[in-house]
Amino acid sequence: MTSLIRAAEHTGIQPIDDINSPTAPGAGYVRQDVTQDSKRRRHGTFHAFLPASLVRERKARLKICTNALATRLEFDLDESGGLRATGVHFEATDYIGLGPRSHLETMGIPVVREMPGIGNYLQDHAAVCLTFEVPMNDSLHQLEASRIKVIKELATYLISGGGLLSYPLQPITIYLPSKLLDNDANLSTADKQDLDSGDVANCADLEFMPEANNCTDHVIPCKGLFSFIIALIRPKSHGSVRLATSNPRARPEVDLGFLTNPEDMVPLKKGIKFGLRLAEDMRKQGYPLKNLIVPEDLDDSSLDNFIRQNLRTCYHYTSTCRMGAEADLLNPGVVDAELRVHGVQGLRVCDASVFPEIVGAHTMAPVVMVAEKCADLIKDTYRAGSM
Ligand SMILES: Cc1cc2nc3c(=O)[nH]c(=O)nc-3n(C[C@H](O)[C@H](O)[C@H](O)COP(=O)(O)OP(=O)(O)OC[C@H]3O[C@@H](n4cnc5c(N)ncnc54)[C@H](O)[C@@H]3O)c2cc1C
Repeated sequence: MTSLIRAAEHTGIQPIDDINSPTAPGAGYVRQDVTQDSKRRRHGTFHAFLPASLVRERKARLKICTNALATRLEFDLDESGGLRATGVHFEATDYIGLGPRSHLETMGIPVVREMPGIGNYLQDHAAVCLTFEVPMNDSLHQLEASRIKVIKELATYLISGGGLLSYPLQPITIYLPSKLLDNDANLSTADKQDLDSGDVANCADLEFMPEANNCTDHVIPCKGLFSFIIALIRPKSHGSVRLATSNPRARPEVDLGFLTNPEDMVPLKKGIKFGLRLAEDMRKQGYPLKNLIVPEDLDDSSLDNFIRQNLRTCYHYTSTCRMGAEADLLNPGVVDAELRVHGVQGLRVCDASVFPEIVGAHTMAPVVMVAEKCADLIKDTYRAGSM
């Protein structure tokens, strides 16, 4: 990573101390770490929000149902004729629906309320990987190469919480507005106004994630591997989620809609050129980085082909129940500013699907923020006696 940091700095990328600061520049690299608890174990939302002590303390009023697939909501009309969600079924085998009318009718599902926005505007960070060979000891694939190493690392982690298993997958990440890159991937940061991320137009639309492993679907055995995942973090394309059948247990049909807006190609192409430039700089510093899966050429059609053949998800799916006005004809909203489903009382949505637009960052922490906010909203409603 040292040679990568140097390469970033050679191309004009500076460190950002606090990426969450409103004055953080639009371009820069950020060091990342993992959150560990007092015993130095990796700490996730499950342990943070549902510690065993809390579960025990609230046993009388907290019911956690695992392996319970909600298959149907129950609705009723209140005194004023308004629709109210009144319960959840776990055993129902048929849907009743909130959603786009024509889709529900095609599936033979009775429409409880037409909601054209549900399942639309699916967004994700589309990405391409550049893959390189590096010395095995610089790569996480060393764990595949030696069983003894795995046992040693596991023991280290269990005893001290340290070692390779506590390694953040991406020790640094680089954010960059593609508009600062020219066609040859030269970065221009001379005009400080261009770095003012207080102006949305200056926010990064590319993220470069260096990972010491293979991030493609190709099987590349017995090699140390290193990747740049180049992610489009402000995509203009969007897709949809639709039911495949009227069986609640069937997998849905998901269309990520990648590149449906051709404008998304432009930053990706610049990003690939910039990634190759970083790689070249690392080699110049003497780091043994061999190209494995990179574009054959840098002309437009080679880059086009490379992107189409290597495009992948970042698993950051959002916005299929987006917050916004239902009357928005182009992209109708599904929930209001308090996460309540339009036109239905007693029903809130609380997950990544409510993001009005995908965030220009990884999605887990923003989902936690939505959940914290939702808890406050529910408590406020309860206190006001209007639940
Ligand atoms: C492989 C992978 C790696 C990722 N890495 C990162 C990362 O490094 N950093 C980051 O910020 N984000 C990462 N993400 C994205 C992040 O995990 C998601 O954005 C986040 O978890 C979304 O939260 P959510 O509550 O919207 O959905 P989920 O976390 O998917 O939660 C939905 C829950 O609802 C349950 N469920 C669904 N349908 C039903 C039903 N009918 N009845 C009952 N339960 C149901 C599901 O089982 C699931 O538990 C990653 C995602 C994946 C898949």
